[in-house]
Amino acid sequence: SSQGITDNLRSAIQKNGIADKVEVITVGCFGFCEKGPIVKIIPDNTFYTQVTPEDAEDIITEHIIGGRKIERLLYIDPKTEHTVSDSKHMDFYRKQLRIALRNCGFIDPENIEEYIAREGYHALADCLLNKQPTEVIDLIKRSGLRGRGGGGFPTGLKWEFTHKQQSDIKYVVCNADEGDPGAFMDRSIMEGDPHSIVEAMCICGYSIGSSKGLVYIRAEYPLAISRLKIAIEQARNYGLLGDNILGTDFCFDIEIRYGAGAFVCGEETALIHSMEGKRGEPTLKPPFPAESGYLGKPTNVNNVETLANIPIILTKGAEWFATIGTERSKGTKVFALAGKINNVGLIEVPMGTTLREVIYEIGGGIKGGKKFKAVQTGGPSGGCLTEKHLDTPIDFDNLLAAGSMMGSGGMIVMDEDDCMVSVARFYLDFTVEESCGKCTPCRIGNKRLLELLNKITEGRGTEKDLDTLATLGQVIKDTALCGLGQTSPNPVLSTLDNFHDEYLEHVRDKT
Ligand code: SF4
Repeated sequence: SSQGITDNLRSAIQKNGIADKVEVITVGCFGFCEKGPIVKIIPDNTFYTQVTPEDAEDIITEHIIGGRKIERLLYIDPKTEHTVSDSKHMDFYRKQLRIALRNCGFIDPENIEEYIAREGYHALADCLLNKQPTEVIDLIKRSGLRGRGGGGFPTGLKWEFTHKQQSDIKYVVCNADEGDPGAFMDRSIMEGDPHSIVEAMCICGYSIGSSKGLVYIRAEYPLAISRLKIAIEQARNYGLLGDNILGTDFCFDIEIRYGAGAFVCGEETALIHSMEGKRGEPTLKPPFPAESGYLGKPTNVNNVETLANIPIILTKGAEWFATIGTERSKGTKVFALAGKINNVGLIEVPMGTTLREVIYEIGGGIKGGKKFKAVQTGGPSGGCLTEKHLDTPIDFDNLLAAGSMMGSGGMIVMDEDDCMVSVARFYLDFTVEESCGKCTPCRIGNKRLLELLNKITEGRGTEKDLDTLATLGQVIKDTALCGLGQTSPNPVLSTLDNFHDEYLEHVRDKT
């Protein structure tokens, strides 16, 4: 319906003869999925929610021409029941800090000039004209930025490893193979701000000594692919990609590669094999891609959200970024907030924000006034956290200590009606389906775990099965080859730990 709204707004503008004064710009996602589609009127910042194509005529005649806000399209604050017309005063946005998402919803992603007008490509120019590659790497190291794809590895250190390799060719790879169920962080960035990825890859290329970038992107993301292609083409036309960028000796270009549709290809060694035309299976590290990656050459792999942070860190400084977040997790994190929550959407919060703030303030609490039961962070390999974890500040280390993980940013909220054993079974079903089958603990072990969970949910389980679940889960964690297998038992182990009574109810009287 967004296309219908755009079309109707444009025809109402034409019909009313104001095409010389008013323009409709389509932008990327504002994040507030629960209340979309959204229309924002500039310069007065009126934020209309749940707009339909039929509302377009009124927006033009009543608001633009008549100067009156349309009450029925304004957001109603659930606490005060008053209308709110500016997003700055909405709980959903108040606690957010949009760094990776800074341009999403503010610029036309298909217009390079709008990106440049918001300081786009300034960081690239500054690097090429004023900084040595080692200075750029040092700055990223000082910022404390850690990889947002799940691993949390320090980005500057990763760049330094690849920079130090001697090779005729090196590669910069953007991992855009977002595969967690319900996650759309990377997709929104690519659809809403593709130039930030192009610029960051180019800066990375300069820093590590590479002239070739590759974006490995899910083939199921057609809009993101199309916008990236447009951004790459525009950057070439503006002399920001290709030979002798900005008149310097530096040459760099980007190619798009389509994902093979397997979750495991998000793991960097599997991703590299897939790009080489081989089976997307992980391999043991070392060697790390920094030493021997794509086609055996030094390769730096970063995910989309990590890259989206790079230009602004360089523009605003490492110290600015390092003041945001917690001691060991700097900056912000984007989450796809979903499940039994009032404000479903895409959010970005400073590291250290608590789960309670995310769920009850930004998320507006549990749908239908029900009781909160659990929140799953870290995607299918994450863990389910409970009421006692609500005041946990979100960062890489705290989530791990609580028995879950940051992952790439999926956050699914469950209420009192959800059966946690079924939740664990759902996630395990996903990982069994997505296991590449290369190593025994993951291929066979997870199947046995799933069989046990099926037995328990079908009322045939015993207490002894619960012990087997715990032992087997730990063995898989300790022995699987790659991150997928090593984390796949997390939903089972965390629910066994935090909701043991619920498991006992399923097996009661069957011992
Ligand atoms: Fe493949 Fe699973 Fe082993 Fe990873 S842990 S290599 S996904 S079988």
